[in-house]
Amino acid sequence: MDSRPLIVQTIVLGLCLWIESLAPLFMDRPLPQRLRHGVRNLSIGLINGAVLTFIFWKMVVSSAHWGELHRTGLLYHLNLPRGPERIAGFLLFDLWMYLWHRANHELPAFWRFHRVHHTDPALDSTSAYRFHIGEMVLSTLLRLAVIPLLGIRLADLVFYELLLSPVIIFHHSNIALPEGIDRIIRLLIVTPNMHRVHHSDVPNETNSNYSSIFSFWDRLWRTYRRRDNAAIRYGLQEFRAPRWDTIFGMLTLPAE
Ligand SMILES: [Zn+2]
Ligand SMILES: [Zn+2]
Repeated sequence: MDSRPLIVQTIVLGLCLWIESLAPLFMDRPLPQRLRHGVRNLSIGLINGAVLTFIFWKMVVSSAHWGELHRTGLLYHLNLPRGPERIAGFLLFDLWMYLWHRANHELPAFWRFHRVHHTDPALDSTSAYRFHIGEMVLSTLLRLAVIPLLGIRLADLVFYELLLSPVIIFHHSNIALPEGIDRIIRLLIVTPNMHRVHHSDVPNETNSNYSSIFSFWDRLWRTYRRRDNAAIRYGLQEFRAPRWDTIFGMLTLPAE
């Protein structure tokens, strides 16, 4: 088990929590409320991390090893030199993440799980961990097929994960990044200003800005939306009741 992704995301989480304390975009939450929110989201994240690491990670490793052994998948057929193959693998997997996220919004059965992420009433770095375990398990099971289909090597998958978590923590953070800087970064990478629109309670904004690392997938597929962040109200209109913001509420929400 490679511990680098965990170390990198812990450092980035600590940094983002610190910066969003110094320069928050929304300052309407007292500290106890912010702490309660963080503990809930991180508790859900810990449950997910434990289940995925101890039950499913070995399956992902086996699937990648099987693909490497049998040289199956698109990238092996392209026969690229190692450098371009790594870049192509990174791009292809990020495209898969875009499509998977979009499917979570468009297929009702998947949305039942994914809406747990969208019921968060206040976005900050800890929101990056608020996902229902059902969504995480479904995503991992699909990866068992996607990895050998694309022909992604295990080392390249670990490298993708190494960068994915920090970007996801960053774009959920409550950091008040100046628009000029945000605009330059989001030419390539998903930024807080871009992802906050995805957490808006206005349905056609919820169903936009699906990208994970590279922002250009939304521009290419015409799902990119912009909006003044200060006017955004986070969450889902039908799940505003406080009971959906408890750990029990989050875990049982898909059955509602
Ligand atoms: Zn979403
Ligand atoms: Zn999000």
